[in-house]
Amino acid sequence: MDFKQAIDYTNKFHILLRKINSEGTSLPGKYLRKFYPDFLSESQNYVTGQKFAITGTNGKTTTAGILAQILKEAQKTIIHNELGANMPNGIATAIAVGLYRNFKDNGEDASVDNFIIESDEAYLREIFENIIFDYLLVTNLFRDQLDRYGELDITKKKIQEGIRINPNLKLIINADDPSLYDIEKNIANDMIASRKKRKVYYFGFENVEFCDFDSKSNSPSEVIYCPICKNPLKYSKRFYSQLGLWSCDCRVKRPRPDVCAEVKVFRNYSILNVKFEGKSIMYKLNLSGLYNAYNALGAITCAYVAGIDRKIIARALDNYKPVFGRAQNTLINGREVALYLIKNPTGACEVLRGLKNIKNTKLMIAINDEYADGRDVSWLWDADFEVLKNFNNKIYVSGTRADDMALRLKYAGVNLGLLVIDNNIKKTFDFALKSMEEDEKLIVLPTYTALLKLNKIIKDKTR
Ligand SMILES: [Zn+2]
Repeated sequence: MDFKQAIDYTNKFHILLRKINSEGTSLPGKYLRKFYPDFLSESQNYVTGQKFAITGTNGKTTTAGILAQILKEAQKTIIHNELGANMPNGIATAIAVGLYRNFKDNGEDASVDNFIIESDEAYLREIFENIIFDYLLVTNLFRDQLDRYGELDITKKKIQEGIRINPNLKLIINADDPSLYDIEKNIANDMIASRKKRKVYYFGFENVEFCDFDSKSNSPSEVIYCPICKNPLKYSKRFYSQLGLWSCDCRVKRPRPDVCAEVKVFRNYSILNVKFEGKSIMYKLNLSGLYNAYNALGAITCAYVAGIDRKIIARALDNYKPVFGRAQNTLINGREVALYLIKNPTGACEVLRGLKNIKNTKLMIAINDEYADGRDVSWLWDADFEVLKNFNNKIYVSGTRADDMALRLKYAGVNLGLLVIDNNIKKTFDFALKSMEEDEKLIVLPTYTALLKLNKIIKDKTR
């Protein structure tokens, strides 16, 4: 079997799986890598320009999505694991299907301009062993799915292992996250030993302003410790969770960003004022939440280093439509439905913050505990569901762990008379849709596998 045949079979298998209504994102790649082990490494022969990898706890999919939009707007052909399947088999599927389409559209041996690959932190090394990337963007490191990877330090070490095997890799790092500080430092020490300095670009916010809604952050605000001396950090401004303008008495402090910005966050959009190389430019982002402003700033930084014109970036941000489940709005029978993936306390808090005092809205929360969700749902207790205390409309609670979620809402002080509890996600979603008044919106907060299920249900309803 040669490379082209391998792609062809994988694409056929992928189409077949989709026809029988299976997600099919990782299985084709699994067989592909079994029967054609060099697939990932050979695939890079078909890329002429830069290859971007994106990792970190939260925001990978949105950051990659915005960057993809910018490069498309710049007329680049790209391959991108856009559905967020970010382990090696899922990445192999995405690359095979992407190359198949590219050959079909642009000729038998056509190369693409760019790879944009989001990678699970734990699999970064495996990906980097196969593909040599030019840039790695690290979004942040929040406490996430502890049962899968153990402590934050282990995750950080896994990312560092990936970075270390690629000496020419340039880094793009969120300066506001102190837990990323020594990701670069340890590597830099290694590099000094080999007398070679790695290029690092930092991005960060100098100021954050919440404009038309409650600005109080309800993220878990535990004390953050210095990555070097382990004493508590000081913050002149703290934006959310551990992100902010941080410093320590031991003289360790937030690196000065190469791309720095101020942001005004509104309920449905943000205005970013971004400075790079002495020039300042305003961007409007049609996504809500400070966390999405961070995602956009990371993507903008990638676009700057790739030399993309600022006007093109602005147009792309304006045209950006969120990936499914990342704050996407859909119309079903004339009713507005919005989905926001939740998977850990920090991300959930930021989503919940936007729901405070919201009107004309019904809510559905779907919590599963499959492997991809994280088996342990104790993080629900660290997320600020207390913002729903005064919520006065129905809350539909579903998924395999609906009971845990309902209990959490009870302790958050939610009126139990508002809850409708059922493990069956399809049944609950249908029921919630039927109950909607004409001017009402339905906001759904699913975990990852619940989101995949809802994805299918909505596809069936809107096709
Ligand atoms: Zn310190």
